[in-house]
Amino acid sequence: MADIARLSINSATIDRRLSLERCVDACVRHAIPAIAPWRHKIHDIGVKQAARVIRDSGLEVSGVCRGGMFTGPDKAARARSLDDNRRAVDEAAALGAHCLVLVVGGLPEGSRDLAGAHDQVRDGIAALLEHARAANVPLAIEPLHPMYAAERACINTLRHANDLCEELGAGLGVAIDVYHLWWDDTLRNEIARAAGRILGYHVCDWLVPTTDLLLDRGMMGDGIIDIRQISGWVAAAGYEGYVEVEIFSAKNWWLRDPEEVLDITCRRFQKHV
Ligand code: ZN
Repeated sequence: MADIARLSINSATIDRRLSLERCVDACVRHAIPAIAPWRHKIHDIGVKQAARVIRDSGLEVSGVCRGGMFTGPDKAARARSLDDNRRAVDEAAALGAHCLVLVVGGLPEGSRDLAGAHDQVRDGIAALLEHARAANVPLAIEPLHPMYAAERACINTLRHANDLCEELGAGLGVAIDVYHLWWDDTLRNEIARAAGRILGYHVCDWLVPTTDLLLDRGMMGDGIIDIRQISGWVAAAGYEGYVEVEIFSAKNWWLRDPEEVLDITCRRFQKHV
């Protein structure tokens, strides 16, 4: 049974219209100890104010969502992305975040060169690492489900992410999200291989049928992922950090009162994670 003391709420889980301040207040009211804010929510009130609000609340920041999007059609676009990623690192540092989550980017528009996109991602992460190490912000590669390979992230397996970590070295780790990785028959071994570099663990559930590729994630217990089994593998790999609930749900959870969503999240977290 998962302990609420390890729960972190991704700000996208509760009604996307809520300000960061209201997200923070809602977490505090539910005795939830950590939050994972999206950058646009940070920008809405400014980095300084966001850092102050979170510090005053006593919440920890399990991770900032998100950096990445390293792929681009030309050098100028990739340089702009790198600049933005350096700002993301600085924002994560200002918030005292445990890591910056990287959604690495898919194929550049009009491209069919998947191998080239992989190279751009590796080069982009390598170029960002120096800044991230200096800022003491670990970078967490989050492999996404293969259905996002074209548009969001061309790293789709924990094996690929582990390979990159081994190639690029210190300051780089992985975020393991059950929604993206549950189907992989090598998952158990790759989680074991990731020991020592697991920077984040994200949970929600895979609904059957899934009606939207992006915005139809389920609450833990409503789908077909054996979350507790995966949690066991993550624990066996030595991960003791926060477990982040990250649910994008346009037709269900985003329509509900955030207080109700958090009540149910806490109960399901204890039962199914
Ligand atoms: Zn995630």
